[in-house]
Amino acid sequence: MKPYRRLIGHDSMTPTLRLAIGSLVVGIAVLGLKAIAYWLTGSVALMSDALESIVNVVTALVVLIALRVASTPADLQHPYGHHKAEFFSAVLEGVMIIVAALLIIEAAYKGILNPRPLDAPFEGLLINGLATAINGFWCWMLLVQGRRHKSPALVADGHHLLSDVISSGAVVVGVLLAVITGWYVLDPILASLVALNILWSGWKVVKSSLSGLLDESVPDDRLASMRAIISAAAIGAIEVHDLKTRHAGKMTFVEFHLVVPGAISVSEAHDICDKVEQAIKDEFGDVTVTIHIEPDNQALQHGVLVL
Ligand code: ZN
Ligand code: ZN
Repeated sequence: MKPYRRLIGHDSMTPTLRLAIGSLVVGIAVLGLKAIAYWLTGSVALMSDALESIVNVVTALVVLIALRVASTPADLQHPYGHHKAEFFSAVLEGVMIIVAALLIIEAAYKGILNPRPLDAPFEGLLINGLATAINGFWCWMLLVQGRRHKSPALVADGHHLLSDVISSGAVVVGVLLAVITGWYVLDPILASLVALNILWSGWKVVKSSLSGLLDESVPDDRLASMRAIISAAAIGAIEVHDLKTRHAGKMTFVEFHLVVPGAISVSEAHDICDKVEQAIKDEFGDVTVTIHIEPDNQALQHGVLVL
């Protein structure tokens, strides 16, 4: 496992990274099998399934690179760190998804105008079915490991893969139906449905990245528990106001004004800051906290009152 550790330079990320590399290897194997299945049959639906795999493989690769860049420490040119690198992978994914969907829609349009029987349909379906089974196993693995390591990113990957497995299953059943009934127009129609599914999953990725780029606040439940933690930890302070949060990749940025009695020393005020900072980090992990200290005549009597 040493090379992974060197790659990411952060021990706690090793299981996540190992699974990310696993996803890439599984993705390449599945892509190879699906490409063979398409090549054997000439089915537009199987082509769309293979194109969906290409999107997955390139995305997995870009995510790995983005994680590597995002984990590099802050430097003089990038004093806030490199966390937003993860958003680049989403931009690239969005572009690829549109290209893949357009390719499928073009092929499906031609296929609907001019449906043709499939070559070697059963061999192709068998190979595609094998690829889907491998994907299904890996999807189960990601969900189990994601829950074990409490990684929302892995669980999200697992759910994404699950939707791929379901759409691949539908493609296999549909192509089989087309072969049995001889109604070959089913094949390009299925391909169009896969194209729509690809566009939909791409939109979700782009949307979540846009919210990060626009510095969306953390979700309400997290904000509420953050207020409770601050309120309990800031013993000696009077009030917290102007609490702001944003996130970039794994990192959450928190800033607020901490009102303390004007008569206490700078050292005492700083000790309170350190305690609050530690309490937030203990609960939320990757957090950067910035606190602005104010004397009690600045109290607004709103915000978070310290208990
Ligand atoms: Zn203030
Ligand atoms: Zn300090």
